[in-house]
Amino acid sequence: MNKDLHIYNTLSRKKEKFEPINPPFVGLYVCGPTVYGDAHLGHARPAITFDVLFRLLKHLDYKVRYVRNITDVGHLENDADSGEDKVSKKARLESLEPMEVVHRYTENYHQNMKQLNVESPSIEPHASGHIIEQLEMIDEIVEKGYAYESNGSVYFDVKAYSEKYHYGKLSGRNVDDLLNTTRQLDGQEEKRNSFDFALWKKASPEHIMRWPSKYSDGFPGWHMECSAMGRKYLGDRFDIHGGGMDLKFPHHECEIAQSTVANGHEPVKYWMHNNMITINGQKMGKSLGNFITLNDFFEGSHALLEKAYSPMTVRFFILQAHYRSTLDFSNQALQAAEKGFERLMNATLALDKIQPQQDSSVDVDAIFQKVYDAICDDLNTPIAIAHLFDAVKVINNLSSGKERISQEDLEKLKQFFYAFVFDILGFAQQKTENTSEDRSADLVNLLLDIRQGAKNQKDWATADKIRDDLKNLGITIKDGKDKAEWSWD
Ligand code: ZN
Repeated sequence: MNKDLHIYNTLSRKKEKFEPINPPFVGLYVCGPTVYGDAHLGHARPAITFDVLFRLLKHLDYKVRYVRNITDVGHLENDADSGEDKVSKKARLESLEPMEVVHRYTENYHQNMKQLNVESPSIEPHASGHIIEQLEMIDEIVEKGYAYESNGSVYFDVKAYSEKYHYGKLSGRNVDDLLNTTRQLDGQEEKRNSFDFALWKKASPEHIMRWPSKYSDGFPGWHMECSAMGRKYLGDRFDIHGGGMDLKFPHHECEIAQSTVANGHEPVKYWMHNNMITINGQKMGKSLGNFITLNDFFEGSHALLEKAYSPMTVRFFILQAHYRSTLDFSNQALQAAEKGFERLMNATLALDKIQPQQDSSVDVDAIFQKVYDAICDDLNTPIAIAHLFDAVKVINNLSSGKERISQEDLEKLKQFFYAFVFDILGFAQQKTENTSEDRSADLVNLLLDIRQGAKNQKDWATADKIRDDLKNLGITIKDGKDKAEWSWD
């Protein structure tokens, strides 16, 4: 079966055959959340997109190191070079320590990711835990002449850089346009040019998250963390860097410039960006009243939601669109996703019960070659899911006896179908909540059934042993006429 992976490289603006720098190893870096609020639909999309990529690469036998960071310092309001740090602002508004804010929303993010069946990355570094690495990189950039100190802050010299390298190669912006469009903001007078960006910011007296450095007591610029942590964990040139499309500029453009200077060459072979989610055609935003958190979805607790939607429905909804297309939220689309997911899960259960025949009337390889072709064509999950539904049709026909399948083909069908549904697309059967108390009761009932069997065989020794051992565990059995009853002491 052909499993050649092609991915769309934002840098070259075309689909390329995926060839890792050092096979079978693959370094994958994805910009994680800035943790100052509950995770929302906009967080779910990159997490699920790159989770499918991580799962697919492992399925294709690559050894993947997946780094997804936590931004807990340096991300200022409006993604700008001045203004308040997002984490500090939340801490100030709620009278918390910044690290309390970070802890709370990191836990929330992890819980939501677990619900969505997003696998934990290999490493999840925090920006605040890598200040030394960031300062080292800043020193390198200053020494090479592409950054300058100004009033205790350090700025990247975009003009000097663009004389030798191509600034704007990722986002398609050019320096002349930037000169006309960059807004004049506070602190701008420290910069040589308005499009220069901060590598290190001197902290104002009221700024609480600060570290000492030879430049000033301050904090790193937002883009520094990914350059420094990517290099530390994946090396100075690695395979894939991903994130949301909104990060292309300035975040990733600046990251390329910083790393290119510090490392002496380009840091990343393939750049991948997922598109945005809109809500009823509008951008999501707190001020628009359409800011729906993942917990809102799972509980149905938002005015725009007609009902609660399970994590697997949300996952299915997201994967039903190609990651490079925009995806518009609506109750109708989510309800369609809910039905689709249910049909898929019913097929996994039906597949378990199919009995093999002498020969096959179905071509399993042909179906799954189409599924592989789709997923390996730049993660085309909607087409892959459409072809999985061809398999669902076959499964339903096999169940009803309209088609037949041999033992060998049945094994293959199970192997492929389960691999795609569970391992690669990452769906999971939704379990009803089962408490440990329910489970204990099930176990006691099981022992009572065994004891009844022993009594029927007149095996009094076993029957008495179960009764006495349960008594020692604090469970009393009362033998009734047909059935024993039990209670906790
Ligand atoms: Zn980043």
